Amino acid sequence: MVKLTFYGGVNEIGGNKILVEDKKTKIFFDFGQSFNFGAEYFTGWLSPRAMNGLGDHFEFGLLPKIRGLYAKEQLAFTDFPYMEPEVNAIFLSHAHFDHVTHICFVDPLIPVYLGVGTKLFLESMEETSSFCDYKKHEYRTFRTGEKIKRDDITVEPVHVDHSIPAAYGFIIHASEGTVVYTGDLRLHGPRKDLTEEFVEKAEECKPDALICEGTRMTLKENRRNYSESQVEQLSSRIVSSTDKIVFVTHYSRDMDRFRSFYNVAVNNERKIVISPKTAYLLSKLIHDEHLDLPDPLKDEHVLVYYKRKKSGTFDDADYFVWEREFMDKMVTYEFVHKNQSKLIMDLDFYQFAELIDIKPERGSCFIHSMSEPFSEEDIEDEVLHNWLDHFGIQFHQLHASGHLNKEQIGNLISEIEPKKIYPVHTENARLFKRISDRVQLIECGKEYKLTST
Ligand SMILES: [Zn+2]
Repeated sequence: MVKLTFYGGVNEIGGNKILVEDKKTKIFFDFGQSFNFGAEYFTGWLSPRAMNGLGDHFEFGLLPKIRGLYAKEQLAFTDFPYMEPEVNAIFLSHAHFDHVTHICFVDPLIPVYLGVGTKLFLESMEETSSFCDYKKHEYRTFRTGEKIKRDDITVEPVHVDHSIPAAYGFIIHASEGTVVYTGDLRLHGPRKDLTEEFVEKAEECKPDALICEGTRMTLKENRRNYSESQVEQLSSRIVSSTDKIVFVTHYSRDMDRFRSFYNVAVNNERKIVISPKTAYLLSKLIHDEHLDLPDPLKDEHVLVYYKRKKSGTFDDADYFVWEREFMDKMVTYEFVHKNQSKLIMDLDFYQFAELIDIKPERGSCFIHSMSEPFSEEDIEDEVLHNWLDHFGIQFHQLHASGHLNKEQIGNLISEIEPKKIYPVHTENARLFKRISDRVQLIECGKEYKLTST
């Protein structure tokens, strides 16, 4: 008997934790953190205490009490006893926060399977961010099409296109039936062929169940959404029509977006200025030849921005060791100020104070290449616009989503023709019912038995 239990990603976008069981074999697919995780009890500096392991989380029922899953040290201050692993493996679909973060609680004896590229992202996050620690694990990397057998279950990862490289969907072959899990995916990115290949393979195996993401399953989509190539074209139009600097902000791990702005810079005879963090990530990802990204140390179109730190004099000792690697490509606020017409600069919202030093000319441009704010009362959005207004910078919104839209979800379901559909990673699971009468709405922690009819 094959069983599915959803411990996260239920009626919410993100936080996927999906358990697939077949006889004695238990495998989790993704082990992420919800975006609003614990928001009822924790806010600002009031956060779960790391020293207390899972204690603070269990107090409020924020994580499920599952036998043989968690690390000994995480359970030390709880009333839940440690047990030898009963979960055979965890498979990660991609390196986004809402799919991986909670592996930090998992027993290091349980192997974590992930794409080669996903591992590079996790390493880079841990090395460059002081608050990121996934803890020790036995990582086992896979590539698309491999078949990984763990007792009664064989897992086949298949690459998909998403807003981060090395994203996978899974075809899960159990003793009595097949389950397909989409992970997160889209069809309007530069590698839509990957998603198409996944759908084809999923269709071929005539699955009993499809666990399908539904981020953009909404009644009406109010936000403007472009394809990745439209983002590049429209950005290029903005850059080619100004002789002033163009600032851009985008999700730091969206390498398709990075590549789009890199292309815009090259095609407009400009250089792209990136942070040491992005340079570090690139220096890791170039080891995956499939990704075809520029080497920050060798590529003449890439410059690395060093902000003033500590001494304020750009002394080597002011910077982390990993940051110093790119000092040959160093530019400072003075360089950026003097070369505004020749540059596109990555500028994250939290780095806006650099504008005070850079002193951009009035009429410069800013491209916000991320999701539009969720509400009109978004405080950060208001502050962002106050800064732009203060410096007389023009605002542009240009973004391509990492997810299928509603019609595409419908097409995917009718192509794969699963016997049952379990919507995850969505706030509107009910809308799936309009697409198909085979939809099973899910509850957190409830067990669903797979019946092959
Ligand atoms: Zn994602």
